[in-house]
Amino acid sequence: KRIPLVAGNWKMNFDHLEATYFVQKLAWLLRDAHFDFKRCEIALFPSFTSLRSVQVLIEADHLRISYGAQSVSVTTQGAFTGDVSADMIAHLGCSYVIVGHSERRKYHPEDDANIVDQVRAVLAAGMQPILCVGESFEERRQGIELDFAVGQVRDVTRDLSDEEAARLIVAYEPVWAIGTGMVATPQSAQDASQAIREDLKATFGEKVSESVRILYGGSVTSKNAEELIQQPDVDGFLIGGAALNADELSKIARIV
Ligand code: 13P
Repeated sequence: KRIPLVAGNWKMNFDHLEATYFVQKLAWLLRDAHFDFKRCEIALFPSFTSLRSVQVLIEADHLRISYGAQSVSVTTQGAFTGDVSADMIAHLGCSYVIVGHSERRKYHPEDDANIVDQVRAVLAAGMQPILCVGESFEERRQGIELDFAVGQVRDVTRDLSDEEAARLIVAYEPVWAIGTGMVATPQSAQDASQAIREDLKATFGEKVSESVRILYGGSVTSKNAEELIQQPDVDGFLIGGAALNADELSKIARIV
């Protein structure tokens, strides 16, 4: 059975002092609520500049909170000013790296070839990629949202081995739902997650497709989390805005 994952993508928020304050507050809230870490995994995605501080705190206090980076270089080392390699991230105790977030696709821009290389770099460094996919409003208007999201997963995973694919996490994040307050309906989150899982099954077989966690992202709050997580193919959340509030994030984790 897949263990649900509640992932907080902080994007470009919190310096290292704010990040450590947040982790302490979250840990205190979870302890106070007797949170069952075996039932649901929590992961935080700070900026590169906060990762080391978050690692030191989590290790010192033996906190059962996972963490990772929001992006990664496709190269392993050398003359790439401003880039951060997968090994550097792995050596900070990171379990995960978010790959292909729609904000990175839009502002940098990262294309499929680059995203494939990021996925490979993350896997080679022993971490798990959280591959973000999802349609924009235009594709939804045309009614092609499922094909679009499935196609994005397929384009990035087609050359992976079964073992590599099994380590993947997919985040279905419709672009129109990100930061807008317009959350997808539980049914459309389920439809997309199910379509992605069925396509993974066709390519890699049932064992792989049943082990891959598929998250929903886009305006998740403690008010809509319950209905969404009841969907059979939704295995957790990738949360932006609501993950900047420790009370809200711990509430969502307790709902999941
Ligand atoms: P919001 O939760 O703020 O809509 O952001 C979602 C997101 O982009 C997480 O990666």
